[in-house]
Amino acid sequence: MRSLIDIVDFSLEEVEELIQVACDIDAHPEKYAEACKGKKLATLFFEPSTRTRLSFEAAMYELGGNVIGFSEAGSSSASKGESVADTAKVISCYADIIAMRHPLEGAPLVASRNATVPVINAGDGGHLHPTQTLTDLLTIHREKGRIDNLTVGFCGDLKYGRTVHSLISALSRYQNVKIVLISPKELAIPDYVKSDVMDLNGMCYEEIESLEKALPELDILYMTRIQRERFDDLETYERLKDSYILTAEKMRDAKADMCILHPLPRVNEISVEIDSDPRACYFRQVLNGKLIRMALILKLLAEKDREEDRDEGEELSSFVCKNPRCITSTEQELNQKFRSVELKERVYRCIYCEKDAVHKEEI
Ligand code: ASP
Repeated sequence: MRSLIDIVDFSLEEVEELIQVACDIDAHPEKYAEACKGKKLATLFFEPSTRTRLSFEAAMYELGGNVIGFSEAGSSSASKGESVADTAKVISCYADIIAMRHPLEGAPLVASRNATVPVINAGDGGHLHPTQTLTDLLTIHREKGRIDNLTVGFCGDLKYGRTVHSLISALSRYQNVKIVLISPKELAIPDYVKSDVMDLNGMCYEEIESLEKALPELDILYMTRIQRERFDDLETYERLKDSYILTAEKMRDAKADMCILHPLPRVNEISVEIDSDPRACYFRQVLNGKLIRMALILKLLAEKDREEDRDEGEELSSFVCKNPRCITSTEQELNQKFRSVELKERVYRCIYCEKDAVHKEEI
């Protein structure tokens, strides 16, 4: 069953297709108003959320579907000790698709391995947040008209900011994207993102502490809040929480067409006076989040339907597959199975290689 746990679970072409579908939904919402009629999305949120959960729910309603779920761990059986694996198995009996947020890293992956319906990672601890990344990519595409050839600055909590980790991973697949990592040393990007994503893909990047110094060269500034809930000691949080505050005065040094993105919620890292600057894209980004989640739900449900529609075939004692290249020619424990196709006359095909089956009498 196809799920979305990490943004790289989708090819670049699939991401581009989602962006195109999201733009089409925006232009022709009426075409999609009943696309998910009779389907249910379960939103399993073990951690607080405003945008992600409500945008998933709004997305499903606008596709004509329904939503079930919970918005805090305390109201689920997790509080009685139920495992993520069991929860996933149970919810698969009620819903057609699951969106899960969890404070523990890897929880949605565990869910996807146990569910019989697609699972979407809606944020796992400080690890990944692929649907925010789809939102960010759609926003960059709409605001800049391209995702290649950009200098993208990430500012704030790059250690715990899961949206940053996922977006860098997505950007590594585009051409000529330069990354500028702006953070205090204590909140620097994790080493694994450097080695496994940026170094491995030959990305050009620099680390710097000063936002003022970095600002003039940026095409995109991706601001993030300092993630209070992930700190082991609040003293460190208190010391770092005001590390960066983007003001109108600082914006004078930015390019005239630089875009400011922020996954939100904002605490104090962007002063409110900037909201009216045309370069502030973060509220338009919110709308894009709903559109791309609509496109994502459509894609995963369509793939699920295709999988379910796949003819399981039947064992027919009078037919055999004689194709020497078919998997059944070497894996003897596989029972040969066939499906019938109505052409001028009925023919039987092997479900594995799709070649015509041979009637035993003809051998
Ligand atoms: N809403 C984003 C997230 O869930 C960003 C944040 O919380 O700072 O990761």
